[in-house]
Amino acid sequence: MIAALLHRMQREGSVPVADYMQAAAQQYYARGDVFGAAGDFITAPEISQTFGELIGLWCAVVWQNMGAPASFQLVECGPGRGTLMKDLLRAAARVPGFSAAARVHLVEQSPALREKQRATLSGHTVTWHETVDGVPRGPMILVANEFLDALPIRQFEMTLAGWQERYVAADAAGNLTFVLKPGTPDGAPSAKPGDIFETSPAIAAFVGNVAARISRDGGAALLVDYGHGTTALGDTLQAVKRHKPCGIFETPGEADLTAHVDFAAVRAAAKGARVWGPMAQGTWLSGLGIKLRGLQLAKGKDAATAQAIESGIRRLTEADAMGALFKVMALTHPSLAMPEGFQQDGSP
Ligand code: SAH
Repeated sequence: MIAALLHRMQREGSVPVADYMQAAAQQYYARGDVFGAAGDFITAPEISQTFGELIGLWCAVVWQNMGAPASFQLVECGPGRGTLMKDLLRAAARVPGFSAAARVHLVEQSPALREKQRATLSGHTVTWHETVDGVPRGPMILVANEFLDALPIRQFEMTLAGWQERYVAADAAGNLTFVLKPGTPDGAPSAKPGDIFETSPAIAAFVGNVAARISRDGGAALLVDYGHGTTALGDTLQAVKRHKPCGIFETPGEADLTAHVDFAAVRAAAKGARVWGPMAQGTWLSGLGIKLRGLQLAKGKDAATAQAIESGIRRLTEADAMGALFKVMALTHPSLAMPEGFQQDGSP
């Protein structure tokens, strides 16, 4: 993984940022123990069970709008520890017929995380796939939380001589550094020297694939991630280790590398599907009744537990926590009714 990439770097002089990100992510997620308070970062399903529960009910309503097919592919990409899927299945099981119809597919490349997911989802029949292409045909409901942000990006820099692409190279002392090579991005806004622009062919390919499947076989996808609704300049590639930002070249393969998702690019890639949002995560969860669900959960619990439930929900919804930076987007077959929590014109 990273070792092979460093060899290639020596041989070829430099490698694209996307290849560095891909190799670092593969090595990083192979460890498996990266989430939660003791790990490097914490995600929405690990903060509050209400997150997966509301997504479960959202899926159940989509399934009903699809005409309640007797069998459909319920897909999660990048399921982490499997917590979201577990909460989703528990909540959606209250809708008669949903559990029996759902064929659960997880798209996960890390063997260590697959083991975690297997343990979390014991009692459910689950099939794993390397990529979404492995999921059998048929109507599908797909969910992905913090999956797109882990997919590789390309970075371009505006120079006095025009756009150049950033590559990663090792300097004389062996430290990783950026170098520039010829390359012009598609769709960049006007920029001045020093500005950075990011694109993600990997996200575009993934979203294009999912949208094509939905338009062919029916269904919907729910994409939750941090990012921006309009295409913009900016260097958003970041590394996080033990809940703190660190340099992206500091410990290759030992920190979580992610980038902000450009939801305008996601929208453009979703050909054949109808696109809803992106909406702010806080607004979307509030519209689905997250506060009420929190009150239900807290009922009869001791004060400390009730407070933990409430503070988890605040973290997911408040604008200065995860409520505004995180966005929710849905792709649906054009024949489907408006999905829960979104607005009629399809935009925020
Ligand atoms: N959705 C989970 C985990 C988010 S972390 C949560 O919310 O807690 C990112 C997840 O995507 C991990 O499961 C990681 O192994 C997976 N992943 C990252 N890059 C991937 C890729 N290229 N293909 C498949 N899975 C990938």
